[in-house]
Amino acid sequence: MGLKDAIKKATFFEILQGMSVTGKYAATKKFTIEYPKEKSILFPRFRGTQALITNPDTGELNCDACHLCETVCPSQCITIESSESADGKKSLDEFTIDMSRCIFCGFCEEVCPRAAIVMTANYELSTYDKDDFLLTKEWLIANQVHARKELKAR
Ligand code: SF4
Ligand code: SF4
Repeated sequence: MGLKDAIKKATFFEILQGMSVTGKYAATKKFTIEYPKEKSILFPRFRGTQALITNPDTGELNCDACHLCETVCPSQCITIESSESADGKKSLDEFTIDMSRCIFCGFCEEVCPRAAIVMTANYELSTYDKDDFLLTKEWLIANQVHARKELKAR
């Protein structure tokens, strides 16, 4: 061991050097947040879970079951079941998104000709049960409360 190393050991130089870095960061602005007590500030174009939008006047779904979103989805995580009435009008029976496969690309929202499906600011999906990742039509309709806030802000 050289003299320089011996002096460093005797004066705890490296420990003091490390502590000085800790001290420097302890005095600066914190970037961590205490989730879930605190929530992140999201960017305006953040893409969270989808919502199915209803007409605020009639309460009817904007979706006319064209299956475009189901077709375009690169993860193939959208499943739509529809039926056709005698007059040829299509109606949506089931609409399910498997969020365990969704990559939040937003293609479903982009392709929809009726603005019937939108990405929202809701990102809170943590669960102990994998079945909870299957978002049903009812869940997606209820999720529009997050979409409405977003749409109003636009
Ligand atoms: S965000 Fe992308 S991956 Fe997710 S459901 Fe829509 S199209 Fe599919
Ligand atoms: S693209 Fe829009 S209108 Fe067509 S099935 Fe999907 S949500 Fe419904």
